Order: sequence, then structure tokens, then C-alpha cells
Amino acid sequence: SKVKDMSAEVVDSNPYSRLMALQRMGIVKNYESIREFSVAIVGIGGVGSVAAEMLTRCGIGRLLLYDYDKVELANMNRLFFRPEQVGMTKTDAAVQTLSDINPDVVLESYTMNITTVQGFDTFMSSLKNKSFRPNKEGSGVDLVLSCVDNYEARMAVNQACNELNQTWMESGVSEDAVSGHIQLLIPGETACFACAPPLVVASGVDERTLKREGVCAASLPTTMGYNSLKDFFPTMEMKPNTQCSNVACLERQKEFLHVKPARDAAARAK
Ligand code: ATP
Ligand code: ZN
Repeated sequence: SKVKDMSAEVVDSNPYSRLMALQRMGIVKNYESIREFSVAIVGIGGVGSVAAEMLTRCGIGRLLLYDYDKVELANMNRLFFRPEQVGMTKTDAAVQTLSDINPDVVLESYTMNITTVQGFDTFMSSLKNKSFRPNKEGSGVDLVLSCVDNYEARMAVNQACNELNQTWMESGVSEDAVSGHIQLLIPGETACFACAPPLVVASGVDERTLKREGVCAASLPTTMGYNSLKDFFPTMEMKPNTQCSNVACLERQKEFLHVKPARDAAARAK
């Protein structure tokens, strides 16, 4: 009937206008494929919630959200969470807000600690689940974003991604929120999070005792690059450590030695 046709048109116009925005930005050529992509976001705090909202507005296909915490009044000075969501788990509150913004995104809420044995297990199996795109190669997600605030959780993400050969990004913001870092980690190809231990591990102190102005103790000091006051954003490439303590990292490094020559040759042929 006519009524049905109309509603179908309204629903269709929504993702289309989102894709138009992506097209206009002109950053990626295959902007239409964003609807096929799954992104896992660990930590729905200051960084994770904003990343989730941006991806939702761009029309991402599926988001997997992990956090063990509840929304508190203390979080209200940040963007994203609303006062009436106090007491809800951060992942459930995020699903509520994100589905209002864009109902086409498939949203999965995982309220749990990824560093416990059971939590890590659930984390792994959720990343492996391919029901959204059954013929996808590798894991069931295209990218993992680490938006946590402590070393332990970063090491858990590192472990999972090394085991699954999963590309991921690590983020850190300093206590004064003026500087931060972003690190792209490709197992076997770039340094993993255990390849170069951060300040806190190298110096053997408890990260909770190491609170210094402008320093994010849980992050790599070497990649603490961005300074928003000076608008200074240095970049560097870190090769994997052949002595890395992470067994899965060493396995990925071995695999990459076989892949690399063919890839370099293909790049030269272009
Ligand atoms: P702040 O720490 O500055 O008070 P916040 O509580 O929003 O702010 P952020 O540092 O912005 O925290 O975000 C980190 C998020 O990562 C938090 O929501 C926290 O609950 C979550 N997180 C940290 N460790 C884990 C973990 N092991 N498993 C699941 N979620 C985690
Ligand atoms: Zn490593």
C-alpha cells in the first residue's frame, strides 16, 4: 500500500544522507562500505563514548560496546551521558542514546570487565562472532578501539588482538586533558603494547601512585605526542620487538616475515 511505501522511503533516506556527509568529507573512497563494518569499542568513557557517537552518525554497520561501569553524576561534565541515565550501565545508556541517533546501527552491549577470566573469554568470543558478515576474513570485527584508562585493560586488549591477528588502536589522554596519544597496532607488523613497556612498567611502580601533571601513566611515554596547546602532533613508526614477552606477538611477527616480501613486491609493481 501507499503508506508502506512512504515509510520505506523515510527509513532509506536516513542512511543515505549519512553517506552523503561521508562522501563530502572526501577522506575515504569506499564510504558506502561503512555499513558493512563492525567496530569494537572498549571503555565507554571520555574517549570511547565520543568515538561511538561519531561512528554512529557516520552510519557504521555494527558497534560492540564494552565497559564495567555505571553512569555517575560525576560523568556529567563530559559529553554524551545524560542526567536521567545515572545508575544505568554505561554500555546500556550508550545503546539507548546511539539507537536514538541512528536506529540502523546494530548495537551490542557488554557490561563486563575484560581483564577477568570470564570477561576475557566473552570478549574473545564476541570478537570472533561472524554472524553480521559471515564471509568476512579474520575475526568478526574490522577494528578494535581501546579507550580504557589503565594498563591492565590495555594489556587484555593487546592479548586478544594479538591472538586474533586483529588491527586495533590505542588512545590515551593526560590527566590535564591537554595532551594525548593515538597508536595504531597491527599484529606482527608494528610494535604491540607489550613490545615497548610504558613508563609505569619500565620503572616498576604502581600506576595508581604515579599521578603527575600532564602525564598519562598507563600510556606509552614515547607516543604521548599530541599537545593541543601547541597543536603539535609528532608521529613515529615502531617496529615489533623480537624479544617481546607476548607469545602471540612473536607468532604474528613470524607470519609477517612471510607476508612482507610479497606485499612489498606488489607495492613496487603498482
Ligand atoms: P575518568 O576516569 O576521567 O573519571 P571516566 O570514568 O569516563 O573518566 P575514562 O578514562 O574517560 O573514564 O574512560 C575509561 C573507561 O574504560 C571507563 O568507562 C571505564 O569503566 C572503562 N574501563 C576501564 N577498564 C576496563 C575494563 N577492564 N573492562 C571494561 N571497561 C573498562
Ligand atoms: Zn609485542
